[in-house]
Amino acid sequence: MSTGEAQTETYQFQAEVNQLLKLVIHSLYSNRDIFLRELVSNASDALDKLRFEALTDDSISEHSADLNITVDYDADARTVTVSDNGIGMTRDDVINNIGTIAKSGTQQFLDQLTGDQKKDAQLIGQFGVGFYSSFVVADRVDLVSRHAREGAEAAVRWSSDGSGTFTLESTTRDEPGTDVILHLNEDCAEFADQGRLRSIIRKYSDHISFPIRMPKQDEEGNRTEDFETVNSASALWKRARKDISEEEYKEFYKHIAHDFEDPLAWTHSQTEGKYEYTTLFYIPKRAPFDLFDRERAKQGIKLYVQRVFIMDDAEHLMPNYLRFVRGLVDSNDLPLNVSREILQSNRVIDHIRSASVKKILDLLEDKAQNDPELYAQFWSEFGQVLKEGPVEDFANRERLLGLLRFASTHEDTPEQKVSLDQYIERMAEGQEKIWYVTADSFAAAQKSPHLEVFRKKGIEVLLLHDRVDEWLMSQVAEYKGMKFASVAKGELDFEPETEDETETEGADDLAGRIGKALGDQVGEVRVSRRLTSSPACLVLGEGDLALHMQHLLRQAGHHVPDSQPTLEINPGHPLLKRMAGLEDGERFGEWSRVLFDQAVLAEGGQLGDPAAFVNRLNDLLVSWPEAAAAADPESGSEASAEDEGDQRTGTA
Ligand code: ADP
Ligand code: MG
Repeated sequence: MSTGEAQTETYQFQAEVNQLLKLVIHSLYSNRDIFLRELVSNASDALDKLRFEALTDDSISEHSADLNITVDYDADARTVTVSDNGIGMTRDDVINNIGTIAKSGTQQFLDQLTGDQKKDAQLIGQFGVGFYSSFVVADRVDLVSRHAREGAEAAVRWSSDGSGTFTLESTTRDEPGTDVILHLNEDCAEFADQGRLRSIIRKYSDHISFPIRMPKQDEEGNRTEDFETVNSASALWKRARKDISEEEYKEFYKHIAHDFEDPLAWTHSQTEGKYEYTTLFYIPKRAPFDLFDRERAKQGIKLYVQRVFIMDDAEHLMPNYLRFVRGLVDSNDLPLNVSREILQSNRVIDHIRSASVKKILDLLEDKAQNDPELYAQFWSEFGQVLKEGPVEDFANRERLLGLLRFASTHEDTPEQKVSLDQYIERMAEGQEKIWYVTADSFAAAQKSPHLEVFRKKGIEVLLLHDRVDEWLMSQVAEYKGMKFASVAKGELDFEPETEDETETEGADDLAGRIGKALGDQVGEVRVSRRLTSSPACLVLGEGDLALHMQHLLRQAGHHVPDSQPTLEINPGHPLLKRMAGLEDGERFGEWSRVLFDQAVLAEGGQLGDPAAFVNRLNDLLVSWPEAAAAADPESGSEASAEDEGDQRTGTA
């Protein structure tokens, strides 16, 4: 394509981009300065990439000297220009990176927006709008870019006013790199100013490890043709910790994590000795949208070797259950040409990885201990992921279990805030197990009939209702020597509560009769030591999956072997007392089945034949003496008359 008669092509933004742009412009208006941070951050990334690729590609290594970022302005033309001599973009890169949002969950994100300016601004920040923040201050943005592997003629100019379309034309650029030219809108003319720009750079971008240059001023404060560096231009993580301010740590986080919000906590350490490396890890304030999308969720650790950026998302540096951690590792012991393959089995990496995990656990333990409020915030965002830890990381199992938090019968909110240590501390006298119940909601856990005897005895039970809980509990056996035990599984070794002989007399016999009526639907029917107010409940074997999980797995198409649960009955309950008065036969069988189905439902299980349950229940309701009498005392329907007779004589 000839550049003489520049051909301009017009493109439509991807639909989501359009929607997002409008929102960004409105929502970030009160925080306009950040456009510069985003552009400088992108420039820095581009320099990192060039430096890294030049290590192994001679064709571009000539461009890797004197890497820098330039911020210039023109008050008269009302423009601000951010340039870098980094990796640059090809025409396709520009279309793909600037014209689309190559981010997962974009639509999902847009669906969450409420129209409430303040809330949305927070969400947008969390989503990360990067380049698009330019349109908050500019009514036209031009971008000129040339990729380092392409010639001067291959450069491309992108231009847009942020209202739905952008244009692309071929142009030339002497050196590889990118210029972003902002045509400021009237309200934002103030940004085309030396002092204003310098102060924003100092505030947000001082930590950038490449020089950021601006025009020099003469004695009178007029701009000259010379440029000078206006930031510290050193790798922040290599500086002594005491010399780094909290603000600098926060700004650095926003740069490397591409987050608009401050981090929740961080830990920075410089290690010398056998291996020399620096780590700087951050815990974000909010979970990303794709945290549970295993395919998409990326690791957030950057790897540097001797200050040179090597790669993003270095998955071997962090176990999966810590995938929410953002930050970097800078090693002095790895070769500069280290590849992902090498990282997979490398002694240095293994060492750094296990030391890194310890540092993060140290940080979390410290916050849990000394700043419970912050820890609660962490837990509500990332607790679900951390629960994968005790299973995934056997070496740190005990520490990880210690960091978990649970809802409990001894608390009155559904919030997960009880630690296992706290649980152990307030155990009842003689209690040896850590009791828990699993269910698919907090309400279901809290109302489980299995809790009745525990409530009565004042024994605390942890209420587990996250999806991962059932799996977690099937994998861990104990904490600090205390065994975990489900209140819904196995036989309880409690002494029976009631000494009331009349209540228990004949109970075993009743259990046997119900067992016969139910046939092979149940493994066993026995008198319960769990129940005080419910008529019956199901008890699973130690190794069985909870019913709500069985249901979930079946729904997902998995084969789950049928288990034969035990039915426990509460002979003191009026329903059971009444059943004891019935003789064996059809009616007794129906009641038994209703009893069983009820217990399945209470457990979050699913009935094999729900319609039959409803029919049986309706028959029973209609046959209730009061109901039957009210139906029509004069004539009396046949059914009710029959039923009443049934009740009185106790025959089938
Ligand atoms: P992010 O930085 O989070 O990826 P941005 O919206 O800030 O998102 O940038 C989008 C993409 O555009 C970047 O990932 C990068 O590929 C490309 N890009 C932006 N600015 C530059 C630049 N100065 N040089 C090269 N590529 C750039
Ligand atoms: Mg960016």
